[in-house]
Amino acid sequence: MPTPEPTATEQNQAMDQALTILRRIYGYDHFRHNQADIIRTLIEGRDALTLMPTGGGKSLCYQIPALVREGVGVVVSPLIALMQDQVAALRQLGIRAAFLNSTLDPATARQVEGELLRGELDLLYVAPERLLTDAMLGLLERCRIALFAIDEAHCVSQWGHDFRPEYQRLSLLHQRFPAVPRIALTATADRRTRDEIVDQLQLQQAERFINSFDRPNIRYLISDRGNGRDEMWRFLQAEHPGDAGIVYCLSRRRVEETAAWLSGRGREALPYHAGLDADTRRRHQERFLREEGLIIVATIAFGMGIDKPDVRFVAHLNLPKSIEAYYQETGRAGRDGEPADAWMSFGLQDVITLRQFVEATDADERFKRVAHHKLEAMLGLCDLTGCRRQALLAYFGETLEQPCGNCDNCLHPPATWDATEPARMALSCVYRTGQRFGVNYLIDVLKGKQDERIQRNRHHRLSTFGIGAALSGPDWRGIFRQLISLGYLDIDHEGHGALRLTDRCRPLLRGEETLRLRRQRRPEKRPAAGRASAVAGLDEADRPLFEALRRLRLELAREQGVPPYVIFHDRTLREMAGHRPASRAELETINGVGASKLERYGDRFLAAIREFPAAPGATAATPLSP
Ligand code: ADP
Ligand code: ZN
Repeated sequence: MPTPEPTATEQNQAMDQALTILRRIYGYDHFRHNQADIIRTLIEGRDALTLMPTGGGKSLCYQIPALVREGVGVVVSPLIALMQDQVAALRQLGIRAAFLNSTLDPATARQVEGELLRGELDLLYVAPERLLTDAMLGLLERCRIALFAIDEAHCVSQWGHDFRPEYQRLSLLHQRFPAVPRIALTATADRRTRDEIVDQLQLQQAERFINSFDRPNIRYLISDRGNGRDEMWRFLQAEHPGDAGIVYCLSRRRVEETAAWLSGRGREALPYHAGLDADTRRRHQERFLREEGLIIVATIAFGMGIDKPDVRFVAHLNLPKSIEAYYQETGRAGRDGEPADAWMSFGLQDVITLRQFVEATDADERFKRVAHHKLEAMLGLCDLTGCRRQALLAYFGETLEQPCGNCDNCLHPPATWDATEPARMALSCVYRTGQRFGVNYLIDVLKGKQDERIQRNRHHRLSTFGIGAALSGPDWRGIFRQLISLGYLDIDHEGHGALRLTDRCRPLLRGEETLRLRRQRRPEKRPAAGRASAVAGLDEADRPLFEALRRLRLELAREQGVPPYVIFHDRTLREMAGHRPASRAELETINGVGASKLERYGDRFLAAIREFPAAPGATAATPLSP
């Protein structure tokens, strides 16, 4: 029997209820972005399509309506590995949640099905292949369903990297349950994917909520010096001495080496790549989620489904192959909205490897063209002298009016220099050696190196031999890199890395054009205790308490076998350390402390805080040492 349309008053009451849930259960003050509108849409029984960046707060958009509406909210997600933690986090809040996927033993699955039929669940997470079975659909037909949430909705797209064939069958839900509102959610920004979601899931009627893809809390830092590891070490020690983070490398071997190297220097670091057996991978992922301050060194195989909110940095030791990939991988930092760093170091070799990589695939020409195009855009972002965030957002069709003030180029504007002469030298050297040689050889010729191979080729007689001796090897590599990324030079297709001139060179060689390049940065001394570390913004005097609260959190998490952030986020602990609430009532005003957590943990945290009384007059009297 169809439910009658709710009246306006009923709708307003429902929204009041939603706000009460946000405050009482989640412990947050107000809705973010357009959460309130999305929630209203679902409560009123209409469909929604939600594009929100990672960390934007997508889950609340379906969790709260599922609680307000009668019946169970069914969440479809491909991320089986995550379900357990998601459900654990909801139960911490006192929400009746469960999941059904292939990891459950039959007895537990039957138990969950029983709860479902008896109407004892607020939220049920289901893997798509499970949901689409006749048995499951039959079961759902006997229940009251509040809504369907289709998470990671971009998985319907055949073009994306997360394609799941079962997702394309999810329009079935609409056909079998036409009266149940649906919400599709994704953090993938591009228009083509969006259109595909609408098409495949039959969401033509859905309200669209497209958010800005900006992640203002992420600081973008890109270094072109190309000696990644040492630079990264300096960055980690200066800015993230005790923080959890992800380091991405291109190859398995590099992953292993880097993890061992970091461990050897005293940072706990674990490798993760597709070559490790499933058990090791699972263990490493688990430790990353459950311990504090661990570094995962990974290939891009790692990430999808890593829902750890307090990743304080993502470091790339290689160039990602597209801006989409860069955005997605860096997006794993700072999901909790707190400051985080996206750091990258790349060099000439990356550019060459990736170009060859694209050429070497046996995909069709159209695919290659797209891949090249994407790589060019990524290189453009790297060699940019303006605001990175503006460029990044522009790539996704968004305009950011002002430079962001939170990327390396905004913080330390890069110098440029007139590279016209050296660029001409480099290009004519390529030409005169017959467009058959790679960068290292060309640089040797330019620098006039005494080399047997050069002499055998008689290249020591060329006019370009030795004309570039005034510049250093790294300088030349920087010049070649930018000439490649700017499209003056092409890399040969047979995979030997030989450079060739493109048509783009003509005006420069003819003297009709000048060229300014980005000057490579020298290593800089950064101030210690970075702004993006977990203790940033905390008074020195409050740090011992913060650390004590963290220890308590870890202890509680261990007792229950859940990740620490499921108990409280860093931000909540930091507020506790800063405000030192003395009563339950005071504690409840802290962000992230809802009724259920107050009940469970309030007294233990209050006791811990009491052990660290703020020294009376601590800020006024005691003179600090210089
Ligand atoms: P997404 O799924 O979009 O990546 P989540 O739903 O995991 O993001 O939310 C990211 C973080 O922000 C979570 O810790 C969540 O509890 C928090 N959050 C969501 N909405 C709010 C809000 N209105 N106020 C404060 N914190 C919020
Ligand atoms: Zn900027």
